[in-house]
Amino acid sequence: MVVSNAVRPKQDQSSSGLVDPFFRSVTYLRVSVTDRCDLRCSYCMSENMRFLPKKDLLSVAELDRLCTAFINRGVRKLRLTGGEPLVRKDFMSLVRILSRHLASGMLDELTLTTNGTQLAGAAAGLAEAGIRRVNVSLDTLDPDLFRSTTRGGDLQRVLDGIAAARKAGLLVKINTVALKGINEAEIPSLIRWSHALGMDITLIETMPLGDTGEDRTKQYLPLSEVRERLAETFTLHSLSERSGGPALYFSVAETSGRLGFITPLTHNFCENCNRVRLTCTGRLFMCLGQEDSVDLREVLRSTSDEAALDAAIVNAIQVKPRGHDFVIDRMRRKPTLGRHMSMTGG
Ligand code: SAM
Ligand code: SF4
Repeated sequence: MVVSNAVRPKQDQSSSGLVDPFFRSVTYLRVSVTDRCDLRCSYCMSENMRFLPKKDLLSVAELDRLCTAFINRGVRKLRLTGGEPLVRKDFMSLVRILSRHLASGMLDELTLTTNGTQLAGAAAGLAEAGIRRVNVSLDTLDPDLFRSTTRGGDLQRVLDGIAAARKAGLLVKINTVALKGINEAEIPSLIRWSHALGMDITLIETMPLGDTGEDRTKQYLPLSEVRERLAETFTLHSLSERSGGPALYFSVAETSGRLGFITPLTHNFCENCNRVRLTCTGRLFMCLGQEDSVDLREVLRSTSDEAALDAAIVNAIQVKPRGHDFVIDRMRRKPTLGRHMSMTGG
């Protein structure tokens, strides 16, 4: 177990829900099902990423067992992510097997975050399995810029994926990482395009996770700046509703759409954190921005006793830290954490 240095009040662990030492209920699990991806976004991965051997990854049966243990402890929302979840060949089996928890009412939502490149082929099956919403990451609508920021990606495949998802009846939310001098000028048109298609869009600050071979201080664009600039073009009204995630939402009067901001660096969102993250190797990270983690694969592979697995999960939640401390350090120019977003799942 790896634990960061925080003062932890004592907790009664006998209650049925998962409650962390700071009295936050953990009801949201994000699961990275693979570290592999068919793109190489410049802020996420290095060009020559080394991926894990397949034997290190949790199998569908192991993922199901773990997710079910969390659901039995009150987790109501599951987000499957990666890497790119749709590059995993047995991904649809996982979705179908987990969807029984939607049917039983134990789970409110099963969803995924995808880069959209393989969504065209998967959308109908996802909708059939009970998935209602997907997040698609898209940082630009310019095919050349898309190719360069993703190091080789084909924008049209993502656009086809989005069209197929909408046709299948899935609600699509666009996630856009704001990149200084790269897609900065395009943000208003991305907002107009998303809203014209009835899709919410959320802007995200780059977080210093993993070495990407790029200088992060060059890519980092504070969303406080973006918001000020957007307010010159759009009328933004703050919305009180949350999506169960860390985004702050605004309505845009000119487009009648919703715009979210995820600002881990300019505004720390940890006080309401209700989520934990599972890597594709079964390591549970209690915070995206801290090293606190517990190896649940070892428990999974060493016992078939569900009570032991449950106890490991309950104990893990007791090391959830108060919050992250991301910094984009101009002097060090190094990531705050060595692991990539594709490991912990975005
Ligand atoms: N491959 C899928 C995708 O791109 O949607 C799912 C995994 S990806 C790691 C999830 C999200 O994390 C994406 O929206 C991506 O833009 C975002 N992301 C990756 N690295 C990031 C970083 N260093 N800072 C902020 N967001 C990042
Ligand atoms: Fe792949 Fe998603 Fe990372 Fe881009 S952000 S490299 S699509 S995992």
